[in-house]
Amino acid sequence: MEKERINRVQKTVPGLAFGRVRCPACGNSIQFVERAESIMVTTFYNQNGDGSFTMVSQNAEIGGELSFLCGECGKDLSSLHGHFREMSF
Ligand SMILES: [Zn+2]
Repeated sequence: MEKERINRVQKTVPGLAFGRVRCPACGNSIQFVERAESIMVTTFYNQNGDGSFTMVSQNAEIGGELSFLCGECGKDLSSLHGHFREMSF
């Protein structure tokens, strides 16, 4: 089902040609940016005998909307984000 949706996007969205993303504004087809609206970083610490703290581990959780942008001119290409996700390895 996800595949069908992607195929439809390939046919209708400008900026995707021959399976490659190309920015319709500047022609860039190499550099792209994925931006998260917010990231929550959680860091775990242990307190030592002398009262100092040592970091044990850290994890980051992405929240909110993810946008997909041209890395050259910054044009919002979020309509191609599904394709980008599909093609990210
Ligand atoms: Zn561009």
